[in-house]
Amino acid sequence: MLSEFELISQYFTRARPNGPHTVLGVGDDCALLAAEVGQQLAISSDMLVAGRHFFADADPRQLGHKCLAVNLSDLAAMGAKPVAFTLALALPNADANWLQAFSSGMFALADSAACELIGGDTTKGPLNICITIFGHVPAGQSLRRDAAQIGDEIWVSGSLGDARLALAGLQGEIQLDAQTLQHAAPRLHSPSPRNALGLGLRQIAHAAVDISDGLIGDLGHILQKSQVGARLHLSALPVGPMLASQPRDRQLEYMLTGGDDYELCFTAPASKHQQVLQVAQTAATPVTCIGKIDAGTGLQLLNQHGQPEAFSFHSFDHFRQP
Ligand code: ADP
Ligand code: MG
Repeated sequence: MLSEFELISQYFTRARPNGPHTVLGVGDDCALLAAEVGQQLAISSDMLVAGRHFFADADPRQLGHKCLAVNLSDLAAMGAKPVAFTLALALPNADANWLQAFSSGMFALADSAACELIGGDTTKGPLNICITIFGHVPAGQSLRRDAAQIGDEIWVSGSLGDARLALAGLQGEIQLDAQTLQHAAPRLHSPSPRNALGLGLRQIAHAAVDISDGLIGDLGHILQKSQVGARLHLSALPVGPMLASQPRDRQLEYMLTGGDDYELCFTAPASKHQQVLQVAQTAATPVTCIGKIDAGTGLQLLNQHGQPEAFSFHSFDHFRQP
């Protein structure tokens, strides 16, 4: 049986720090990061709880990837460059195979994002994974939720709804054929954070958010914080390739309210339309213009004839009463 410290040194300590900012990594009472003049530190935490955010028997390699991916996605949505992260882990037992797969999934993504594990905490308990991530953004260049302006275009990266489709298939809410499920499941289990796009949007976009709880709810945060309204064109929404063969009502529900897509939704002045497309191309991340910020309150959903459409569904909320 591994001790706590053997476990940390075997699975979560690497030979040498790989980040240019790390003065001291795992192993002391605190890690030390060099401060950098002119940069603000962007900080975010995300906790994933077994049975709530993932199935208890989830593939540990994918889980390691996803725990870090959701945190990287928050940095992307802020226009911040990944620097380092800490990992607080509660484990029911020290299963060597699980730890090996989990840490290698996590480090593969950490290396590709140049984001270094610098510390954490490890304890016995029901499986629970909390990462806190640190990023840099030049002062004044972050993409805040309160910065949308009237007349801005609203954009979304990638496609929407396939993660929700996979969840519905896995939970037996709907019947999916094996091939559809096989292609949709990676959207749920191993999301691709849009960091290159987020960085490119600095000084171009006004406001941004990452879509973790569904487009309506997450865009709603921008509208509320910026005290503006918006019109969305339903026919412009980029439907996930697997969701595209589902009935139209289901497509709309999953695109508008499905969580776990980890795409970016952002607003930018209409005068920067071409620059947005250029930055997206450089980041190899497709983007779609889906609507406009206006002076109203709330969100209007327009059908292909430009007429408002009403829906009864909500975005995901852990504390909403069913
Ligand atoms: P302390 O008791 O001072 O908080 P710990 O004994 O909990 O320190 O941890 C020892 C060292 O190992 C610390 O540097 C801590 O940041 C690091 N650490 C603990 N758990 C993890 C983990 N899951 N991943 C990475 N580093 C960890
Ligand atoms: Mg401790």
